[in-house]
Order: sequence, then C-alpha cells, then structure tokens
Amino acid sequence: MPAKYCSLSGKIAIITGASRGIGKAIAIQLAASGSKVSLVARNQNDLDAVQEIIKISGGEAQSLTGDVSNFESFSGIVTQTLEKWHNVDILINNAGITHDNILMRMKEDEWDSVMDINLKGCFNGIKAVTRHMLKHKGGRIINITSIIGQIGNAGQSNYAASKAGIMGLTKSIAKELGSRNITINAVAPGYILTDMTDKLDDNVKEKLKTSIPLGRFGNSEDVANLVCFLASNEASYITGQTFNVDGGMVMI
Ligand code: NDP
Repeated sequence: MPAKYCSLSGKIAIITGASRGIGKAIAIQLAASGSKVSLVARNQNDLDAVQEIIKISGGEAQSLTGDVSNFESFSGIVTQTLEKWHNVDILINNAGITHDNILMRMKEDEWDSVMDINLKGCFNGIKAVTRHMLKHKGGRIINITSIIGQIGNAGQSNYAASKAGIMGLTKSIAKELGSRNITINAVAPGYILTDMTDKLDDNVKEKLKTSIPLGRFGNSEDVANLVCFLASNEASYITGQTFNVDGGMVMI
C-alpha cells in the first residue's frame, strides 16, 4: 500500500478501469488516502483481486462489473455506489482501450469501439454522477486522457480523436459546473508501463525512450499520485485543466 499523503478521509470514489494498470494504481492510492472505492471493469475476477489487495491493507472497496460505453450500465454503477455508501464525491474516468490501425485499413468498428469506450464512456460517467453531485453541492471528476490527444500518432487516429475529445469535454463541463463547486480536470499520461504499452515492440520502446527527457517510461503510481491530489480538498481551485505526466515528452 502506498503511503497516505493526501487526505480523502470519508470520501466515496468510483474508478473505472480499476482492474489493471493505471486504474488499479489509482484505486489503491485513493483507498490508502481514506476514500471508499467502487472498482469498475468488465472482468469480475480481475476486480476481485484488486478489492482483496485494498481490503488486506485496511481499505474499503467494492467490485462492480459494468461497461462504461453503456449509459444504463454506468448509471447502475452509480446507483449501487449510492445504495452502499450514500454518496459519490469523486469520479475517475480511466477505462480506455486502443484498436490501432492506419486510416486506410481502419474498420468502422475499430473507430466506434474506441470512441464509445474512451470518449462516450467519460460522457456517460459525468452524466450519471452529475445529478447527485449537484444535489450534494460539490464533486471532483478526473478524466484520463493521453498525450496522443495533443500530438497525434500515426496508426492511432481513433485513439487520438477520443483523447482530444476528452480534453474538450473536460473544459466545457468545467465551465458548466464550476459555479456548483464541481471541478473537472484531465490527466494526460505519456508512456506508462502497463498491459497497454506492453504490446509495443522492444525496438519501438527503446526509440520512444530517447524522446523522453527523463529517459524512461512512467509507472502507474506516477499518474495515481497526481490523480489523488486532484481529487483532494487541496485542489479545490483547479478546474478545466489538463496535466501531463509524461517525463517531459510533450511540452506545450
Ligand atoms: P489497461 O489496458 O492496462 O487497463 C484498461 C482498464 O480499462 C482495465 O481495467 C479494463 O478492464 C478497463 N476497461 C476497458 N474497457 C472497458 C469498458 N468498456 N468498461 C469498463 N472498463 C473497461 O490500460 P492502462 O492502465 O494502460 O490505461 C488506463 C487509461 O490510461 C486509459 O484510458 C488509457 O488510454 C490511458 N493512457 C494509458 C497510457 C499508457 O501508457 N499505459 C498512456 C496514456 C493514456 P476490462 O477489460 O476487464 O473491462
């Protein structure tokens, strides 16, 4: 369990894509900081394993299977969280996929599935929690985007478009909900060591490292540390922003 360094005592959080990689690290970090966490993904066994890690460390978690691309499914996750803990303070929209292909070979379903899970998934989550957050007079929403949404990448037009969309969505909702004490920010990781980047060829990985000033890929905990801060009371005057966690790879 990571050290508790930001206080989320008494908070309730929903984290999508919490069964692996970055989402798992965020869930563990938030739980260690005092938040009760609803863990969301499609595979129950993977979620149960994360729930067990958190419970053994003295945290509180529940596993909820669901598909973020489906609004009814996301609403069900919010309802189940409210039934158990009567509140949702924090939503982390982290679930995401890649289906890489060059434009000329990209199939419609490769475009649609990436947009549905990465971008519409964020919309579904925001829509599902907003009514409750408005009633509760506050909330924190953090969307995981990507540096690829800022710089583009050959073979990832669907992924880049979905992640750029998340940044526009974040800014617009920040303007809509700011007066209601709901903050929304995006975190843009660079190359982070997870199953998603494990697929990359070793030569590609070595080449990429030469374009990262810190000379290495990041860890999921590097992203979780910032997410935890943005979810805390200490981040109450920050909204509508995108923060890169990328070893300096992209400097705007
Ligand atoms: P992983 O592939 O390791 O994990 C993805 C997670 O999302 C899993 O828990 C998966 O569980 C879940 N998920 C996928 N589809 C759905 C769905 N439809 N509904 C609910 N859950 C779903 O990814 P990473 O940890 O690497 O990435 C996490 C986020 O960070 C993504 O949004 C990704 O785009 C972003 N990112 C990652 C980078 C990296 O270098 N790794 C760089 C930049 C951004 P299950 O399959 O069981 O549903």
